Amino acid sequence: MKAEWFFLLDVDGTLAPIARMPRQASIPSRARNVIRNLAKNKACAVALVSGRPVRELKRLLNVPGVILVGNHGFEFEGVNAPPLSQKAASYGRVIKRVACQLQETFTGVKGVLVEDKVWTLSVHFRNVRSGQLPVFQRKLEVIQRTKNGKMLSWQQGKKVWEARPPVRWDKGMAALYLLKKFGGYPIVMGDDRTDEDMFRAIAGKGLAIHVGNSRNTAASFKLRSPREAGLLLELLCQLRKPKNHLFSKLNLASRN
Ligand SMILES: [Mg+2]
Repeated sequence: MKAEWFFLLDVDGTLAPIARMPRQASIPSRARNVIRNLAKNKACAVALVSGRPVRELKRLLNVPGVILVGNHGFEFEGVNAPPLSQKAASYGRVIKRVACQLQETFTGVKGVLVEDKVWTLSVHFRNVRSGQLPVFQRKLEVIQRTKNGKMLSWQQGKKVWEARPPVRWDKGMAALYLLKKFGGYPIVMGDDRTDEDMFRAIAGKGLAIHVGNSRNTAASFKLRSPREAGLLLELLCQLRKPKNHLFSKLNLASRN
């Protein structure tokens, strides 16, 4: 049976408040409970779509039935991966080498955290002192210009640089892939640049909700914080006929 609703949810900054270190982040219990209830509801499909690897997503939310999409749409659990995943996986060795180079380079720069996520890598600089940021940037650019560094595609997010295989694929394309498989009216929540790809991908097909205070977003709706995101999910979960209710409240036309 195809789902009536499809929740596509980013994690960090959307469901989980941003933490100083990625390992310190957690999804508040209210949001975890509501996701558990949504996942039990046959009318709903739920996917976490995150830059984190799937193993980290499992640590943050171990709920049966929730589809996990990690590494910005390259890694899947709970559904067959799209064929391009193999092409992306062939860059594993390059990712590893660049991650090692970064580790060495940033040994003396306090506050930098390099994460080798197998499919992609992240360089977190949230905890780098502002005076050290030019040094961080210079060192990073040196690595980005190496032979291996140039083979990857680099993108900056919130206090993080991400490097990924140069494959034309992003969270938006992953979202469309899932929608084709599961159907349903998509409700997408996210807070960062990579989520904008999802917002654009579902434009005219569903509801895009930006969490945070960025003015520059393709989403039609905004919530201020992960707390508000959790409350909205809770509200939707409580409505007996959530779809009709939501559409009448927001004055939206259902396209399904
Ligand atoms: Mg995020």
